[in-house]
Amino acid sequence: NLKTPRLPSHLKAKIPTGGSYASIKKDLRGLGLHTVCEEARCPNIGECWGGGKDGVEGKRGATATIMLMGDTCTRGCRFCSIKTSRAPPPLDPHEPENTAEAISRWGLGYIVLTSVDRDDLIDGGSKHIAETIMKIKQKAPDILVEALAPDFSGNVENIETVALSGLDVFAHNVETVPRCTPFVRDRRANFEQSIGVLKRAKEASRVAGREVITKTSIMLGVGETEAEVKEALQRLRDVEVDVVTFGQYMRPTKKHMKVDRYVEPAEFDVWRTVAENMGFLYVASGPLVRSSYKAGEFFLHNVLK
Ligand code: SF4
Ligand code: SF4
Repeated sequence: NLKTPRLPSHLKAKIPTGGSYASIKKDLRGLGLHTVCEEARCPNIGECWGGGKDGVEGKRGATATIMLMGDTCTRGCRFCSIKTSRAPPPLDPHEPENTAEAISRWGLGYIVLTSVDRDDLIDGGSKHIAETIMKIKQKAPDILVEALAPDFSGNVENIETVALSGLDVFAHNVETVPRCTPFVRDRRANFEQSIGVLKRAKEASRVAGREVITKTSIMLGVGETEAEVKEALQRLRDVEVDVVTFGQYMRPTKKHMKVDRYVEPAEFDVWRTVAENMGFLYVASGPLVRSSYKAGEFFLHNVLK
């Protein structure tokens, strides 16, 4: 009988501003790209498209997220507003080429490729994702690419197909602590499997001589305890995950799981410090942070310096 807490003011969306936001939006017209940033009306669009620290890097410091493999997922996580079907439409075989061409013409510094889960496909869509990455890198080697990958039900070959495709950051979200996972994610997902995915991506890329940065995200406010978050972070460090982000869970509609609590901005600051002290290379933490939040800026200021 618990009531959902009221939405605090720090979670209200901001009006986009920032350096290159307007020009990036204008450039997008005619490219045929659909960004998650615009379609999900992400509140961070002003900052991500604004272009790096204080907007000074312009397009080079800007980040955008593109969704691959359609708009219908074979899974049904309780926090996610994506449509679900056991048999989504087939993949568009031209998507890798067309997406890569449009991204290279758009000219942003950092692109996040995300996708629905496609348990209906033999390879889980791994070759389609890898092909898109390879084509982006062929056309525009300077664009940094992050893939937010599915768990591929733990299939090693599919994980490696993506991890060895030439991408820079292999992201896979654990979403929450182990105890909350069955109430939050689809029944085919679990914390151990996700840890295994991140571990495999790191190891395989290291063996291949092109080590990827690994990254994950945790939503706060779904019922987790402080001790559980700390333990989850330790498990992630144990498999050498490099980057972690923390954001507030927001309920997309009344059909989705309830928010357990709204976490104060100060608590997000504490988690940033805790994670940094545990050795994560980079931590983004705040109520509106999403896994792709200003990812390009991190690279400009930390990795490519
Ligand atoms: Fe786009 Fe992700 Fe930034 Fe939102 S957080 S604007 S989806 S890149
Ligand atoms: Fe949403 Fe991803 Fe879960 Fe599919 S697997 S329902 S896209 S969170």
